[in-house]
Amino acid sequence: MRIDIVSVFPEYFHNLDLSLLGKAQEHGLLQVQAHDLRDWTHDIHHSVDDTPVGGGAGMVMQPEVWAECLDELLGMDDAAEPTKAEQASAPVLILPNPSAPLFTQRDATELSHAEHLIFGCGRYEGYDARLPEYYRDQHIDVREYSIGDYVLNGGEVAVCVMLEAITRLLPGFMGNPNSIVEESYTGAQSLLEHRQYTKPALWRGHEAPPVLLSGDHAKVDRFRRDDALTRTSEIRPDLIEALNCAELDKADRKTLMSLGWEVSGTHPKPLADAHMKQRA
Ligand code: SAM
Repeated sequence: MRIDIVSVFPEYFHNLDLSLLGKAQEHGLLQVQAHDLRDWTHDIHHSVDDTPVGGGAGMVMQPEVWAECLDELLGMDDAAEPTKAEQASAPVLILPNPSAPLFTQRDATELSHAEHLIFGCGRYEGYDARLPEYYRDQHIDVREYSIGDYVLNGGEVAVCVMLEAITRLLPGFMGNPNSIVEESYTGAQSLLEHRQYTKPALWRGHEAPPVLLSGDHAKVDRFRRDDALTRTSEIRPDLIEALNCAELDKADRKTLMSLGWEVSGTHPKPLADAHMKQRA
């Protein structure tokens, strides 16, 4: 996978040379290049921002400097019609933005199949709103994502977050590919993962659940599944509501019912809601 990142702080991305991302680059699984947006400026001050049209606080990133950079990275300077192979491997342009849809594991999974990703890091009040519009008009796959309901100083951290989530899904990235199979938000039934324990079994008076030491794999699997359902029900009931009841086994249903869910419909519903509807 090829990854280009554009930022006014390209040094920020030295962290990508560390750990698993660094190894993936050494092994040729990933080619990451961070570019300085100011290399595409023409004025003596290398300006990338200007005052907002209509007034107001802060500065907005100028569209033209971004466009000159992105045209080059997207290969749009090339007048030749793209071949079918070029179309299939067309880059995806990702622009982090706090006022965009939330980036999820599903997006990470989808983007892990792309051949080329280009990330543009906003700063100041963000980029000019016409930038994503323009590239969509040019038939570029443009994605704007927020990584959470808070505002960062710039897109660099958001890009690191998305990059980690995407690249760890690449075949060959993880030493043990099974580590990504049973994770939170993963698979058809998106749940939070069960809790994890290591040795010693008794630590500072706190015991790991004895069933995990029983050697009975079926019991361990059931315990973990119930733990995942219980944690998800407490912390992310929206994920329980999104489950498909037809895909739940008998034991799942029993656990969910004991946690206060009605499981006879298409999706689980909190028991109180289900009873209210029956009464109405
Ligand atoms: N004025 C913008 C607003 O209120 O929505 C905030 C701009 S923020 C200070 C500057 C840049 O940081 C954004 O253009 C974006 O690239 C990045 N950024 C900040 N918070 C983010 C978040 N939660 N998710 C993704 N990117 C974020």
